[in-house]
Amino acid sequence: MTDRKSELAANLARVEERIASACEAAGRKREEVTLIVVTKTYPATDVRLLADLGVRHVAENRDQDAAPKAAACADLSLNWHFVGQLQTNKVRSVAGYAHVVQSVDRPKLVTALSAAAVDRGREIGCLVQIALDAESGERGTRGGAAPEQMAELADLVAAAPGLRIDGLMTVAPLAGRYAGREQAAFERMMELSSGLRAAHPAATMVSAGMSADLEQAVLAGATHVRVGTAVLGARPRLG
Ligand SMILES: *Cc1c(COP(=O)(O)O)cnc(C)c1O
Repeated sequence: MTDRKSELAANLARVEERIASACEAAGRKREEVTLIVVTKTYPATDVRLLADLGVRHVAENRDQDAAPKAAACADLSLNWHFVGQLQTNKVRSVAGYAHVVQSVDRPKLVTALSAAAVDRGREIGCLVQIALDAESGERGTRGGAAPEQMAELADLVAAAPGLRIDGLMTVAPLAGRYAGREQAAFERMMELSSGLRAAHPAATMVSAGMSADLEQAVLAGATHVRVGTAVLGARPRLG
């Protein structure tokens, strides 16, 4: 193995161990939690090594970086998740490679994604991104809809050609009543998820938890964790 491959393998093993012990502590089966490795700012060569090491889900947050990376890795059987704030002028490109867009947070984005998915003959899974610190009717500073907007957005996605409503995504808020209370934030997400599932039974995904708080997410009941730094190392620049 190359040095980089051994480094990634060791990091993946540590993350795997963290997920497995959190599952055990929560009385959950390991298969209930899917690891998504966030490869933003890291090169396609790393994505290839990760795929070799058994990673099946990767995530990116900027189309400018993600599009060429996904193209360079088109021969690999990977699921690409888009997790960044998405401008409508990037939607056509994202619809070319994303299997799941986790950052759906406004009606205009649903309309644009639907048109792009139909145009490309693809079906795209969508998660409604919830900003637990957004006031009703607002968007969060890091993207995301206020909890009150969830039902309307989910209904729009479910009715949109080319799109599928798969669940919810969140980033633990830095401000507001959930600041510093990751587990309470993720538990609130699980409540929102059960409301969503009442209307859309197949929308079971809850994507929550990153390198610093994946345990709290698994304990609360998240189905997907998004881990960057703990697998790839500290990012060379903000992203
Ligand atoms: C970067 C990013 C992650 C991963 O964060 P780490 O702290 O590096 O694990 C997860 N989710 C989103 C939306 C991100 O932008």
